Amino acid sequence: MINLISDTVTKPTPEMLSVMMAAEVGDDVFGEDPSVNVLESKAAKMFGKEAAMFCPSGTMTNQIAIKMHTQPLDEVICDHYSHVYQYEVGGYANNSGVSMNIVPGKYGKITADQIAQAIRPDYDWLPISRLVVLENSCNKGGGSYYTCDEIIPISGLCQQRGLSLHLDGARLFNVLVETGESTHQVGALFDSISICISKGLGAPVGSVLIGSKEKIRKARRIRKAIGGGMRQAGYLAAACTYALDHHVEDLKIDNARAKKIGELLNRQAYVESVRPVKTNIVVFSLADKEDPKSFLDKLKQHEIGAVQFGPHEIRFVFHRDLHENDISKVEQIISTIK
Ligand SMILES: *Cc1c(COP(=O)(O)O)cnc(C)c1O
Repeated sequence: MINLISDTVTKPTPEMLSVMMAAEVGDDVFGEDPSVNVLESKAAKMFGKEAAMFCPSGTMTNQIAIKMHTQPLDEVICDHYSHVYQYEVGGYANNSGVSMNIVPGKYGKITADQIAQAIRPDYDWLPISRLVVLENSCNKGGGSYYTCDEIIPISGLCQQRGLSLHLDGARLFNVLVETGESTHQVGALFDSISICISKGLGAPVGSVLIGSKEKIRKARRIRKAIGGGMRQAGYLAAACTYALDHHVEDLKIDNARAKKIGELLNRQAYVESVRPVKTNIVVFSLADKEDPKSFLDKLKQHEIGAVQFGPHEIRFVFHRDLHENDISKVEQIISTIK
């Protein structure tokens, strides 16, 4: 099957597997796994931050970030499409006892003005606005992204108003290969950053939360409390370090393929519209209120897997486990499917 369901389906390469097999490991709960320590210091340094912490998932890094920046009854401001709001089971309420102040952005992006308006005045009966979460790239926004220039006013506002700013950077590297901006530039704008290495970068498991020494110390306690302390996690961390060293540039190929397929979809009569394709995600809606399920069935008959992404929307995600002939086949099928 040609799997366009997600970039999480990517599997380790033989080279990555051999690096994993050879990894030096220890007990990371005691801070004694050398391969985890290598990954954590590499990630912290990349973003110009003091510390980092390895976790099994991006949901965990985001949930820990929310908890480390807030107190119960505080409020988090984010776009209505945000992963932390949409796809983390409402964990913010359960894990942190906070509420969400949802801002309707454009393709998942919100502005400093919108945030300024959302910040609560200081009354006994209102939650305290404490944290802003941005997502870059934005999954539900169709892979849209913020440039650093767009984030600077948001970062400035948060500083001025005493709010923390967290980045859900699950697919941040898909953005940076497009904009040419550096991880240091991004790091300077946020209090904490979460990156996923198990998506387009191709590691089997792993996300990293990056921030100040003090915040990451707190984060380690929260991780342990929710059962995320891992022991010989170095086998996984070694895969993540390998991915950061060898797979980042390849994301350009995924982005370019998504653009090509997005343009082709735009020319098909059965497609109503395609969200602007900016990175490796293509989200499109079907014309004539066609049921996405029947369209997905047709794709499946041609051995193409994808997911429904809204009442009339379909999502395709491009990733490193697709070959050039898979892309040709997708082009051929979407041009002829009825
Ligand atoms: C995938 C993803 C995450 C984390 O997902 P996990 O499956 O928990 O690793 C977080 N944010 C965004 C935007 C994502 O796409």
